[in-house]
Amino acid sequence: MEDKFEPLAYRQFVEERRDQIRDKITTALVKAKRDDTVTLIAVTKYIDPLRARVIAEAGIRDFGENRWQVAKPKIEEALPVTWHFLGPIQRNKVKPIAQHFDSIHSVDRVEIIDLLDRYAGEYAKKLDLFLQVNISQEEQKSGVDPDQVEALAKAILMKEHVKFKGLMLIGTQHADDLQKRHEFNSLYAISKALKQSLSLEHLDLSMGMSDDFPIAIEEGATMVRIGRYLVVEENTSTFKRNGVSLD
Ligand SMILES: *Cc1c(COP(=O)(O)O)cnc(C)c1O
Repeated sequence: MEDKFEPLAYRQFVEERRDQIRDKITTALVKAKRDDTVTLIAVTKYIDPLRARVIAEAGIRDFGENRWQVAKPKIEEALPVTWHFLGPIQRNKVKPIAQHFDSIHSVDRVEIIDLLDRYAGEYAKKLDLFLQVNISQEEQKSGVDPDQVEALAKAILMKEHVKFKGLMLIGTQHADDLQKRHEFNSLYAISKALKQSLSLEHLDLSMGMSDDFPIAIEEGATMVRIGRYLVVEENTSTFKRNGVSLD
């Protein structure tokens, strides 16, 4: 980043947004009559290591990135955080991803499950895996088709060095609130059916981003992945939709 970094101003910005997000999470949980909690993942792909450190100092302990090369300089800072990988997984990046991340949200095929399990074994760790589900069934969109989710979940459950943690969804961009709510609710329904058929006690639901996290929580999200709203000093008018407005 070329801009001049002003640590105090950025810290103040981050703490303010963090508090607003926590309030919105609480409000959405109350509205949905839920008594569990939601994990806030700060998506740091937009920011440099100096800013990432401020996010960690603000007490946020889960960080997300969608590309290994972009994540690398921040991971090298050895911040006291859990790293979540959120992006498309290329074969030749599986090794560093398995080495440096704790949790992978974007698993979508058996080949990648096999590789993650193998490298996790080599690094003597256990990786948390999420299956990314393609709810809207758009051609170009990545993710597992809903009717393939159970087969892939079983493939994960058979492995030694990976754990089946839950399901992940990227809501259709620019969809209206109703459509988004429908997508989030569909993932919830898939997760509920899967828990039953595989006799699982708990599955996390990784869904909801800057524009739509309150809706995602109302529909059952247990992890929200928030980038722009938390880490980018942007005009708040970008976030007027979906109850994320600051007014
Ligand atoms: C970038 C990204 C996010 C965060 O999106 P914002 O709109 O910036 O909050 C969440 N999930 C994934 C998979 C992403 O790539």
